[in-house]
Amino acid sequence: MGYSHLFGPVLSRRLGRSLGVDLVPYKVCTFDCVYCEVGHTTAKNLQRQEFFPPSEIEEELRQFFSGNPVLDYVTLSGSGEPTLSLSLGRVIGFIKTNFPAYPLAVLTNGTLLWDRQVQHELLFADVVIPTLSTVDEEIFQRMHRPSPGLTIRRLREGLREFRTVYHGEIWLEVFLIPGVNMSRDHLAALGAEIGRIHPDRVQLNTLDRPGTEQWVRPASPQELQDAARMLGLPYVESIPPAATHGHRGDSSPDPASVIVEMIIRRPCTIGEISESTGLHREEVGKLLRMLSVDPRLKMKRGERGIFYSWAGD
Ligand code: SF4
Repeated sequence: MGYSHLFGPVLSRRLGRSLGVDLVPYKVCTFDCVYCEVGHTTAKNLQRQEFFPPSEIEEELRQFFSGNPVLDYVTLSGSGEPTLSLSLGRVIGFIKTNFPAYPLAVLTNGTLLWDRQVQHELLFADVVIPTLSTVDEEIFQRMHRPSPGLTIRRLREGLREFRTVYHGEIWLEVFLIPGVNMSRDHLAALGAEIGRIHPDRVQLNTLDRPGTEQWVRPASPQELQDAARMLGLPYVESIPPAATHGHRGDSSPDPASVIVEMIIRRPCTIGEISESTGLHREEVGKLLRMLSVDPRLKMKRGERGIFYSWAGD
Protein backbone atom coordinates (compact mmCIF):
# COMPACT_ATOMS: atom_id res chain seq x y z
CA MET A 1 0.00 0.00 0.00
CA GLY A 2 1.09 3.59 -0.59
CA TYR A 3 1.46 5.69 2.53
CA SER A 4 0.76 9.39 2.99
CA HIS A 5 2.34 9.81 6.41
CA LEU A 6 5.10 7.18 6.44
CA PHE A 7 8.30 7.19 4.42
CA GLY A 8 11.18 4.79 4.08
CA PRO A 9 12.54 2.85 5.81
CA VAL A 10 15.62 4.92 4.99
CA LEU A 11 19.16 4.17 6.00
CA SER A 12 19.92 6.97 8.45
CA ARG A 13 23.42 7.91 9.49
CA ARG A 14 22.33 8.55 13.04
CA LEU A 15 19.55 6.06 13.48
CA GLY A 16 20.29 3.10 11.23
CA ARG A 17 17.30 1.62 9.43
CA SER A 18 14.60 4.12 10.21
CA LEU A 19 10.92 4.44 9.37
CA GLY A 20 9.91 8.10 9.01
CA VAL A 21 6.55 9.31 10.28
CA ASP A 22 5.50 12.70 8.94
CA LEU A 23 3.09 14.62 11.19
CA VAL A 24 2.99 17.91 9.28
CA PRO A 25 2.28 18.88 5.68
CA TYR A 26 4.95 20.35 3.40
CA LYS A 27 6.26 22.79 4.54
CA VAL A 28 5.14 23.86 7.95
CA CYS A 29 7.86 24.97 10.34
CA THR A 30 8.69 27.48 13.05
CA PHE A 31 11.91 28.26 11.15
CA ASP A 32 12.86 29.01 7.55
CA CYS A 33 16.51 28.00 7.79
CA VAL A 34 18.91 29.24 5.13
CA TYR A 35 20.37 25.72 4.97
CA CYS A 36 17.10 23.79 4.86
CA GLU A 37 17.32 21.02 2.30
CA VAL A 38 13.59 20.45 2.28
CA GLY A 39 12.88 23.87 0.75
CA HIS A 40 11.47 27.25 1.79
CA THR A 41 8.99 27.26 4.63
CA THR A 42 5.62 28.15 3.16
CA ALA A 43 3.68 28.19 6.44
CA LYS A 44 5.90 29.64 9.16
CA ASN A 45 4.26 29.87 12.56
CA LEU A 46 4.30 28.79 16.19
CA GLN A 47 0.71 27.64 16.33
CA ARG A 48 0.28 23.94 17.04
CA GLN A 49 -2.44 22.31 14.95
CA GLU A 50 -3.90 18.93 14.14
CA PHE A 51 -2.87 18.76 10.51
CA PHE A 52 -4.22 15.26 9.84
CA PRO A 53 -6.62 13.02 11.75
CA PRO A 54 -4.31 10.94 14.00
CA SER A 55 -6.40 7.85 13.21
CA GLU A 56 -5.17 8.12 9.61
CA ILE A 57 -1.54 7.95 10.78
CA GLU A 58 -2.34 5.12 13.19
CA GLU A 59 -4.00 3.09 10.45
CA GLU A 60 -0.90 3.43 8.26
CA LEU A 61 1.31 2.39 11.18
CA ARG A 62 -0.89 -0.66 11.82
CA GLN A 63 -0.60 -1.64 8.17
CA PHE A 64 3.14 -1.14 8.09
CA PHE A 65 3.87 -3.04 11.30
CA SER A 66 1.63 -5.95 10.32
CA GLY A 67 4.60 -7.07 8.20
CA ASN A 68 6.90 -7.25 11.29
CA PRO A 69 9.51 -4.98 9.69
CA VAL A 70 13.12 -4.94 10.80
CA LEU A 71 13.91 -1.42 11.98
CA ASP A 72 16.39 0.29 14.25
CA TYR A 73 14.13 3.30 14.88
CA VAL A 74 10.77 4.81 14.17
CA THR A 75 11.45 8.51 13.66
CA LEU A 76 9.03 11.40 13.85
CA SER A 77 10.43 13.87 11.37
CA GLY A 78 9.20 14.99 7.99
CA SER A 79 8.25 18.01 6.00
CA GLY A 80 8.76 20.55 8.74
CA GLU A 81 8.63 20.72 12.52
CA PRO A 82 6.86 17.68 14.08
CA THR A 83 6.21 19.30 17.47
CA LEU A 84 3.82 21.71 15.69
CA SER A 85 1.44 18.77 15.35
CA LEU A 86 -1.15 18.37 18.08
CA SER A 87 -1.11 14.64 17.25
CA LEU A 88 2.47 14.34 18.52
CA GLY A 89 1.69 12.87 21.94
CA ARG A 90 -1.06 10.62 20.69
CA VAL A 91 1.10 9.14 17.92
CA ILE A 92 4.05 8.62 20.29
CA GLY A 93 1.71 6.90 22.76
CA PHE A 94 0.23 4.75 19.98
CA ILE A 95 3.64 3.57 18.79
CA LYS A 96 5.03 2.88 22.26
CA THR A 97 1.88 1.03 23.33
CA ASN A 98 1.36 -1.07 20.22
CA PHE A 99 4.91 -1.58 18.97
CA PRO A 100 7.05 -1.26 22.10
CA ALA A 101 9.96 -3.22 20.66
CA TYR A 102 10.83 -0.35 18.31
CA PRO A 103 12.85 2.58 19.69
CA LEU A 104 11.29 5.94 18.89
CA ALA A 105 13.20 9.11 17.96
CA VAL A 106 11.96 12.66 17.34
CA LEU A 107 13.90 15.06 15.11
CA THR A 108 13.00 18.60 16.13
CA ASN A 109 14.39 22.10 15.79
CA GLY A 110 13.74 22.47 19.52
CA THR A 111 11.78 25.70 19.25
CA LEU A 112 8.73 24.46 21.17
CA LEU A 113 10.53 22.67 23.98
CA TRP A 114 9.63 25.49 26.37
CA ASP A 115 5.97 24.48 25.96
CA ARG A 116 4.91 22.27 28.90
CA GLN A 117 2.44 20.36 26.75
CA VAL A 118 5.13 19.57 24.15
CA GLN A 119 7.51 18.51 26.93
CA HIS A 120 4.85 16.21 28.31
CA GLU A 121 4.04 14.69 24.90
CA LEU A 122 7.71 13.90 24.24
CA LEU A 123 8.28 12.09 27.53
CA PHE A 124 7.83 8.60 26.07
CA ALA A 125 10.19 9.09 23.11
CA ASP A 126 13.45 7.18 23.50
CA VAL A 127 15.59 9.83 21.80
CA VAL A 128 14.96 13.51 21.09
CA ILE A 129 17.29 15.18 18.57
CA PRO A 130 17.00 18.98 18.80
CA THR A 131 19.17 21.63 17.13
CA LEU A 132 21.15 24.37 18.83
CA SER A 133 23.58 26.12 16.51
CA THR A 134 24.07 29.48 18.17
CA VAL A 135 23.72 31.46 21.38
CA ASP A 136 23.63 34.81 19.60
CA GLU A 137 20.36 36.49 18.62
CA GLU A 138 21.74 38.05 15.44
CA ILE A 139 23.16 34.75 14.20
CA PHE A 140 19.95 33.00 15.24
CA GLN A 141 17.88 35.36 13.10
CA ARG A 142 20.28 35.07 10.16
CA MET A 143 20.47 31.26 10.16
CA HIS A 144 16.92 30.31 11.02
CA ARG A 145 14.68 33.28 10.07
CA PRO A 146 12.35 32.24 12.91
CA SER A 147 8.66 32.97 13.40
CA PRO A 148 8.08 36.42 14.91
CA GLY A 149 8.44 36.33 18.68
CA LEU A 150 10.81 33.38 18.74
CA THR A 151 14.16 34.26 20.28
CA ILE A 152 17.34 32.33 20.96
CA ARG A 153 16.82 32.98 24.65
CA ARG A 154 13.50 31.18 24.58
CA LEU A 155 15.00 28.24 22.70
CA ARG A 156 17.92 27.97 25.14
CA GLU A 157 15.64 28.12 28.16
CA GLY A 158 13.36 25.50 26.60
CA LEU A 159 16.23 23.11 26.04
CA ARG A 160 17.50 23.48 29.59
CA GLU A 161 14.06 22.98 31.05
CA PHE A 162 13.34 20.00 28.83
CA ARG A 163 16.54 18.33 30.05
CA THR A 164 15.28 18.51 33.62
CA VAL A 165 11.97 16.77 32.87
CA TYR A 166 12.93 14.32 30.12
CA HIS A 167 14.80 11.17 31.04
CA GLY A 168 15.38 9.72 27.58
CA GLU A 169 18.44 10.52 25.46
CA ILE A 170 19.03 13.98 24.00
CA TRP A 171 21.32 14.06 20.98
CA LEU A 172 21.98 17.72 20.27
CA GLU A 173 22.68 18.70 16.67
CA VAL A 174 24.88 21.73 15.95
CA PHE A 175 24.56 22.89 12.35
CA LEU A 176 27.66 24.72 11.17
CA ILE A 177 27.89 27.33 8.41
CA PRO A 178 31.32 28.81 7.65
CA GLY A 179 31.32 32.57 8.00
CA VAL A 180 28.18 32.55 10.14
CA ASN A 181 28.49 30.59 13.39
CA MET A 182 32.02 29.21 13.36
CA SER A 183 34.16 31.92 14.96
CA ARG A 184 36.31 30.85 17.90
CA ASP A 185 34.50 33.11 20.38
CA HIS A 186 31.09 32.04 19.26
CA LEU A 187 31.89 28.34 19.42
CA ALA A 188 33.36 28.75 22.90
CA ALA A 189 30.15 30.44 24.09
CA LEU A 190 28.03 27.79 22.38
CA GLY A 191 30.09 25.02 23.98
CA ALA A 192 29.52 26.59 27.41
CA GLU A 193 25.76 26.69 26.81
CA ILE A 194 25.73 23.08 25.62
CA GLY A 195 27.59 22.13 28.79
CA ARG A 196 24.70 23.61 30.80
CA ILE A 197 22.12 21.60 28.83
CA HIS A 198 23.85 18.23 29.39
CA PRO A 199 22.85 16.41 26.21
CA ASP A 200 23.84 12.75 25.94
CA ARG A 201 25.50 13.40 22.59
CA VAL A 202 26.56 16.42 20.55
CA GLN A 203 26.61 15.90 16.78
CA LEU A 204 28.08 18.38 14.32
CA ASN A 205 26.31 18.70 11.00
CA THR A 206 26.88 20.82 7.91
CA LEU A 207 25.37 21.29 4.47
CA ASP A 208 25.41 18.13 2.41
CA ARG A 209 22.89 18.92 -0.34
CA PRO A 210 21.72 22.20 -1.86
CA GLY A 211 20.24 24.40 0.83
CA THR A 212 17.56 27.04 0.46
CA GLU A 213 20.09 29.84 -0.01
CA GLN A 214 22.89 29.60 -2.57
CA TRP A 215 25.43 31.42 -0.38
CA VAL A 216 25.46 28.71 2.28
CA ARG A 217 28.49 26.49 1.92
CA PRO A 218 29.41 23.34 3.82
CA ALA A 219 32.16 23.22 6.42
CA SER A 220 35.14 21.12 5.35
CA PRO A 221 36.21 18.07 7.40
CA GLN A 222 39.08 20.17 8.79
CA GLU A 223 36.71 23.00 9.75
CA LEU A 224 34.46 20.50 11.51
CA GLN A 225 37.40 19.09 13.40
CA ASP A 226 38.48 22.60 14.45
CA ALA A 227 34.93 23.44 15.50
CA ALA A 228 34.72 20.31 17.66
CA ARG A 229 37.90 21.43 19.43
CA MET A 230 36.69 25.03 19.84
CA LEU A 231 33.44 23.89 21.42
CA GLY A 232 35.60 22.57 24.22
CA LEU A 233 33.34 19.61 25.02
CA PRO A 234 34.61 16.10 25.71
CA TYR A 235 31.89 14.38 23.69
CA VAL A 236 31.46 15.83 20.17
CA GLU A 237 30.98 13.69 17.06
CA SER A 238 30.52 14.65 13.40
CA ILE A 239 27.67 13.29 11.32
CA PRO A 240 29.32 11.68 8.29
CA PRO A 241 28.71 13.27 4.86
CA ALA A 242 26.20 12.06 2.25
CA ALA A 243 23.51 13.02 4.63
CA THR A 244 20.33 14.93 4.74
CA HIS A 245 19.46 17.64 7.15
CA GLY A 246 15.97 18.91 7.58
CA HIS A 247 13.65 17.04 9.77
CA ARG A 248 12.73 14.96 6.82
CA GLY A 249 15.38 12.57 8.08
CA ASP A 250 18.87 11.72 7.02
CA SER A 251 18.95 9.07 4.37
CA SER A 252 22.10 7.94 2.67
CA PRO A 253 23.72 7.46 0.24
CA ASP A 254 23.46 10.62 -1.87
CA PRO A 255 19.77 10.74 -2.86
CA ALA A 256 20.41 12.26 -6.31
CA SER A 257 22.59 9.23 -7.17
CA VAL A 258 19.94 6.88 -5.83
CA ILE A 259 17.40 8.48 -8.18
CA VAL A 260 19.75 8.21 -11.16
CA GLU A 261 20.44 4.57 -10.29
CA MET A 262 16.74 3.93 -10.29
CA ILE A 263 15.68 5.75 -13.46
CA ILE A 264 18.65 4.49 -15.45
CA ARG A 265 17.00 1.04 -15.19
CA ARG A 266 13.41 2.01 -15.89
CA PRO A 267 11.45 5.22 -16.32
CA CYS A 268 9.63 6.26 -13.13
CA THR A 269 7.15 8.89 -12.05
CA ILE A 270 7.85 11.20 -9.11
CA GLY A 271 5.40 9.14 -7.05
CA GLU A 272 7.23 5.89 -7.78
CA ILE A 273 10.60 7.44 -6.93
CA SER A 274 9.18 8.87 -3.73
CA GLU A 275 7.71 5.53 -2.71
CA SER A 276 10.87 3.56 -3.42
CA THR A 277 13.36 5.96 -1.85
CA GLY A 278 11.31 7.25 1.06
CA LEU A 279 11.99 10.83 -0.04
CA HIS A 280 9.11 13.29 0.03
CA ARG A 281 7.60 14.05 -3.39
CA GLU A 282 8.64 17.69 -3.05
CA GLU A 283 12.16 16.63 -2.33
CA VAL A 284 12.19 14.28 -5.34
CA GLY A 285 10.93 17.16 -7.50
CA LYS A 286 13.69 19.41 -6.23
CA LEU A 287 16.36 16.78 -6.93
CA LEU A 288 15.00 16.17 -10.43
CA ARG A 289 15.09 19.91 -11.12
CA MET A 290 18.71 19.89 -9.98
CA LEU A 291 19.47 16.89 -12.22
CA SER A 292 17.72 18.49 -15.21
CA VAL A 293 20.82 20.59 -16.01
CA ASP A 294 22.25 17.30 -17.27
CA PRO A 295 20.94 16.46 -20.79
CA ARG A 296 20.89 12.77 -19.85
CA LEU A 297 17.73 13.36 -17.81
CA LYS A 298 14.75 12.68 -20.11
CA MET A 299 11.06 13.29 -19.49
CA LYS A 300 8.19 11.66 -21.26
CA ARG A 301 4.49 11.96 -20.61
CA GLY A 302 2.77 8.61 -20.10
CA GLU A 303 -0.64 7.45 -19.00
CA ARG A 304 0.15 7.80 -15.33
CA GLY A 305 1.92 11.13 -15.62
CA ILE A 306 5.45 12.28 -16.45
CA PHE A 307 8.10 9.57 -16.49
CA TYR A 308 11.73 10.36 -15.83
CA SER A 309 14.57 8.32 -17.30
CA TRP A 310 18.34 8.62 -17.54
CA ALA A 311 20.28 8.01 -20.72
CA GLY A 312 23.35 5.98 -19.74
CA ASP A 313 26.89 6.87 -20.86
S1 SF4 B 1 16.06 22.77 8.55
FE1 SF4 B 1 14.47 21.91 9.88
S2 SF4 B 1 13.99 23.60 11.24
FE2 SF4 B 1 15.05 24.50 9.54
S3 SF4 B 1 13.41 25.15 8.12
FE3 SF4 B 1 14.09 23.07 7.51
S4 SF4 B 1 12.66 21.73 8.53
FE4 SF4 B 1 12.50 23.71 9.57
